[in-house]
Amino acid sequence: MDTMTMLLFGATGDLAARKIFPALFRMYLDRKLPQPFWVVATGRRAWSQSRFRAHIEESLRDFCQDRAGDFSRLPVFLQGIEYYEMDVRQPQAYLNLHHYVRSGESERRIGENRLFYLSVSPELFAGIAGNLHRSGLSQTSGWRRLMVEKPFGSDLASARDLNRKLGEAFAEEEIYRIDHYLGKPMVQSLGSLESANPIIHAIWNSRYIANVQITASETIGVEERAAYYDHAGAIRDMVQNHLLQLAMLTAMHVPGRMTAEEIQAAKRNVMEAVRPLDKEDVRLHVVRGQYSEGSIDGTHAFAYREEAGVAPMSMTDTFVAARLFIDLPRWQGVPFYLRTGKRMKEKSTRIVVQCKPSEEAELPNLMVIHVSPDQGMTLRLNLNGPGKPGQLEPVELKYANQENLPEPYELLLAEAMKGDRTHFAQWEEVELAWRWVEPILAAFAENRVPLHDYPAGTNGPDAAYRLLEEDGFTWWLDPQDEPVYTPVHAR
Ligand code: NAP
Repeated sequence: MDTMTMLLFGATGDLAARKIFPALFRMYLDRKLPQPFWVVATGRRAWSQSRFRAHIEESLRDFCQDRAGDFSRLPVFLQGIEYYEMDVRQPQAYLNLHHYVRSGESERRIGENRLFYLSVSPELFAGIAGNLHRSGLSQTSGWRRLMVEKPFGSDLASARDLNRKLGEAFAEEEIYRIDHYLGKPMVQSLGSLESANPIIHAIWNSRYIANVQITASETIGVEERAAYYDHAGAIRDMVQNHLLQLAMLTAMHVPGRMTAEEIQAAKRNVMEAVRPLDKEDVRLHVVRGQYSEGSIDGTHAFAYREEAGVAPMSMTDTFVAARLFIDLPRWQGVPFYLRTGKRMKEKSTRIVVQCKPSEEAELPNLMVIHVSPDQGMTLRLNLNGPGKPGQLEPVELKYANQENLPEPYELLLAEAMKGDRTHFAQWEEVELAWRWVEPILAAFAENRVPLHDYPAGTNGPDAAYRLLEEDGFTWWLDPQDEPVYTPVHAR
């Protein structure tokens, strides 16, 4: 791997403490970092080097418990990280930083390869990129790459504006837009599922598949993020990015080799074919909900409107279910259902592919891709029980990944360090996704779609069940008293 300097903006923030530094520490332990390895960690706080390193050490002890046996290597790891205090809104600060980085690189004999990671509030993204450019920091003799956190815009216009500004300083091939769902191991396996398995390739079309259900449910509420979430809602926070990315990866067909370019083209092909919604029709295909008071695992949960930082009459969606169609020959007429919510009954991200029924068997074949927290696959088939001719019973083939798999941030950082953009969101995908979401945003803003209440700790509003019942389907696997694979028709 090339030697490089990683410049992390927002190094004193929450994400850096919970995800980025733990990922770097694990990579260090697993010898996946370049040597020498140097992180220039910037923040606004007037912290000394030792104060900052103590802060990182504390979070590593919290978030890398599973590597406690390796904590003796912490001091050497921390040596590779230097805190640099600056206000990112001050152009002069970048000139000083440039000087600091150049002398550090020559002292450490590091090539002029720079990985800039923006883990700051999105309002600062464009300004930082512009200042990196103008100060010369991003004008390197080696490579330069920009990793950008989500959210990428809050609607189509703001996303375009941000992209144009980043584009003044970095080429598209140099921009790594993070969608951490793309760093989840089972999501990374989705790419090869159809192309590497003729058995799946043969059924991956509307002749055999009845519908696809993509669920990402959380049990947590808004926690400390109310200021952001109350303006974003589930539609911006989850649907525009993570859920549409999962839909693209599930529906894509990669005809050739699985290169980053082939995968990007295949995803774009899907997103371009997603049937647009009219603002007037949104209510026919999209359900929105907001959680009311309830209980999760026996613990009382406040209503969304009672959460700290949420407007008392907030109309923000904490739940969205949507039906979309992909107008490609292979997916003609197959509904893709997306669903996400906060304060739901269980934490689960999964993709359920329901096959069309056979004449003999009442229960359809199902393929379930468990993305998180379980990671694996289940295939449900119908078989005769021994000595029971004509009596079909569902049987499940299960693959559960028990290995200690890398965290998404580890995989994504490693890919960006190697210059592999396979699992990052490309601009065209992001733009197409915003374009599809725009009429939904407008319909929500104009209250054209009812805001259904669902008690915290449930599977969402009944309207989300009715959305599927209209098509003769039901959501699979919602935890009920019944066995998990029995269809259920209401909460
Ligand atoms: P955060 O805890 O508020 O941290 C923000 C960071 O930005 C701090 O290090 C802060 O430094 C720095 N900063 C703010 N203004 C600055 C300025 N003028 N000059 C220099 N540094 C400045 O935010 P976060 O939760 O870590 O989120 C960071 C990014 O990740 C955001 O884009 C967010 O949307 C995204 N993200 C976060 C999460 C999450 O779980 N936290 C999940 C997904 C995406 P000081 O504190 O020293 O002022």
